Amino acid sequence: MHKTVTKLADGRELIYYDTEPTVRDAVDARPLEPAASTSEIRVDPFTGDAVTIAAHRQGRTYHPPADECPLCPSRDGRLSEVPAADYQVAVFENRFPSLAGSSADHVTPWTDGPYALTPGTGRCEVVCFTSDHGASFVDLTERRARLVLDAWTDRTADLHARADVRQVYCFENRGADIGVTLGHPHGQIYAFPFTTPRTAQALARAAEHLRATGRNLYDDVLAAERATAGREDSRVVLAGEHWTAFVPFAARWPYEVHLYPNRRVADLTALDEAARAEFPRIYLDLLRRFDRLFPEPAPYIAAWHQTPRPAETELALHLELFTVRRTAGKLKYLAGTESGMGAFMNDIRPETAARTLREL
Ligand SMILES: [Zn+2]
Repeated sequence: MHKTVTKLADGRELIYYDTEPTVRDAVDARPLEPAASTSEIRVDPFTGDAVTIAAHRQGRTYHPPADECPLCPSRDGRLSEVPAADYQVAVFENRFPSLAGSSADHVTPWTDGPYALTPGTGRCEVVCFTSDHGASFVDLTERRARLVLDAWTDRTADLHARADVRQVYCFENRGADIGVTLGHPHGQIYAFPFTTPRTAQALARAAEHLRATGRNLYDDVLAAERATAGREDSRVVLAGEHWTAFVPFAARWPYEVHLYPNRRVADLTALDEAARAEFPRIYLDLLRRFDRLFPEPAPYIAAWHQTPRPAETELALHLELFTVRRTAGKLKYLAGTESGMGAFMNDIRPETAARTLREL
């Protein structure tokens, strides 16, 4: 992997990742002023969950036509977020970030009785998976998918090293049904200055399991799933030499798959070469299965779970992939029970979903 760090006209960082050494010296010629972030992080006094208030984002780009795509390379006199005429993988700081270091210049932290507010520091990045506007992650070659994995890994290492970052979250939303506002194949990275609610809950469960049994929760779950591989009611979808993909026991979504490296690691930076080498084949296979679930390719969310820093307990690195579609043309809405109470109702048995995904 070859990395070139450059700057956009307003001072934001733009990083190119290439499979071969490539000269990346195109200059951003747009007249851009640096954008100021006024994000706030407010702690919900009832749950302890951090909520980010980013009121400055209302003017952001929303479903632009393809010939105005800000993620396409800059070609034929049209200037985009990527000044180069072509690229392989490009990562840049979001122009309209929910979290940004500059929040510290505009928001003063305070506490008052039950309330606490801090600036929404951290960082939001956009990861362009390819320069091909009409492609999707699933269309990448294994070599290019590996380049994206290497970019995620490099970003995780770089962002974790920053004083205002606690948790690095790499993810992809695919499809307009998920609320994707740009059609170009891309993902995002949120570098949170706090531990996200779901991760905090998972860390507490893992610590509790360790206290009660002396064993690691993730090791126990992965061993339990792998032991059922080959059985009719198994939840395993794909069992590789270095990765295992399975539908979780208490899946919240109709089609939800969790992908774990067989050797537990805290985050992407700790994956060994054997696991890195096998990842593209397994992940692309999973994405193709999601594309075959319905007549139309399934909208999905792919979410990397990584251990925050510092953390007393280790979260096992894994990727959670799920679609919000439950059947052709029908979306699962987070309605009364899910949105109101956080209690999920799933219409499909996880064992049935796993069998469907295995047979596709
Ligand atoms: Zn594009």
